[in-house]
Amino acid sequence: MKKRPFFGGIHPKYNKEMSLGVTDFHMITPKQVVIPLLQHIGAPCQSLVAVGDKVLKGQKIGDGEGLCVPVHASVSGTVVAIEPRPHTSGRMVNAIVIDNDCQDTEIEFSPITAPLETLEQDQILHAIREAGIVGMGGAAFPGNVKALSAMGNVDTLIANACECEPYITADDSLLRTTPEQVLEGMTILRHVLKPNRVVLAVEDNKAAAIEKIRNIIGDYPGIELAVLPTRYPQGAEKQLIQALTGREVQPGKLPVSVGCAVFNVSTYAAIFRAVRWGKPLTERIVTISGEAIAQPQNFIVRIGTPFHDLIEVAGGLNEKTERVISGGPMMGFAQSDLSVPVIKATNSILCLLRDRNGAAENPVCLRCGKCVGVCPMRLQPLYMYRFVNAGRLDEMNRLNLMDCIECGSCAFTCPGKLPLVETFRKGKQMIREANAK
Ligand code: SF4
Ligand code: SF4
Repeated sequence: MKKRPFFGGIHPKYNKEMSLGVTDFHMITPKQVVIPLLQHIGAPCQSLVAVGDKVLKGQKIGDGEGLCVPVHASVSGTVVAIEPRPHTSGRMVNAIVIDNDCQDTEIEFSPITAPLETLEQDQILHAIREAGIVGMGGAAFPGNVKALSAMGNVDTLIANACECEPYITADDSLLRTTPEQVLEGMTILRHVLKPNRVVLAVEDNKAAAIEKIRNIIGDYPGIELAVLPTRYPQGAEKQLIQALTGREVQPGKLPVSVGCAVFNVSTYAAIFRAVRWGKPLTERIVTISGEAIAQPQNFIVRIGTPFHDLIEVAGGLNEKTERVISGGPMMGFAQSDLSVPVIKATNSILCLLRDRNGAAENPVCLRCGKCVGVCPMRLQPLYMYRFVNAGRLDEMNRLNLMDCIECGSCAFTCPGKLPLVETFRKGKQMIREANAK
């Protein structure tokens, strides 16, 4: 039997072909954008503008101290409000609302044009920070901080193009259209981190993207392409590291503990644009897909574009739509308010006729143990479920609940249809609150 690249995992139906039909990206021009002042893990930005101010596209409009990266205007226009607005996290988050003048008048960008080998590491990290770059695969950790913590500590630099969640094809589309931006971004981070091995990892269900990369990778000596067998959740950092290097990141530890740094391919492309074009992160590729949307496709979307604008341009929702999700069907968050804006970490808007992973009305654990066999973190979901519901913090900690990556493999395979991931999110919140006290 073929050895699995990592423990556990599943093979859901991927449905990726739905959104790959359209090859020309549409750039949406919303009448108004809503730029949340918190789009990253860390401290929120403070507004640098006031209601009534005119702003230019690319202008820094929010920034802060500590673990914080700035946010920028994605259109030119007028600030009409600074107030709490619905956010994809489900919370209300302070946001800068800009009426678009549809002129796209930009700031003057400051690209770094000197040869890479002459650039200081600090100069590159500063450019990454000032461009507001965060992990664009969903984690949204500030890119400059992650790179700084990896400096001198990693021998392997990884570009993650696995995109293992069903339906999502944003990274696939990026690699089909502008793979050179990803490879250039990898070259820049290689200069900063000086690893021994640099590898671009992609799953074998992305044949067109793989061909594009193979056509140009020879121009980037020292960067290796690894084509991995498709298996969910291979795109999770720890699973990808194990698949590529055989190293296991221990519970509670970060990739850097085993000498690895992992960035998403969209993040590398954004790093390239920040350093070589001087452009801040004001737009990204977003997949809109699912059986409930008329024309599934990928868009280049300005950060701050409301979900309902994208849904409208994609032909609208089926009247029997049951769920709209930010992200994928396994790890995404259901949205009840479609005025929420696309943020830096939004890779997909998924519109479903029925919730595939939805819990049963009267869920019952059958004690079949299937969830244990598929958990890539080697956790025991059935006991975690029981102890979260019983409020037993001691047992939640003993079972390493905080190591759950919320991949949904257990819920996908559970014949009892227990609301496992929702319960684990609740349990993790209970632990965080207890620790805060
Ligand atoms: S898969 Fe579901 S029903 Fe089976 S043991 Fe796990 S939680 Fe219980
Ligand atoms: S959601 Fe958590 S418990 Fe369930 S399979 Fe994924 S890591 Fe394991």
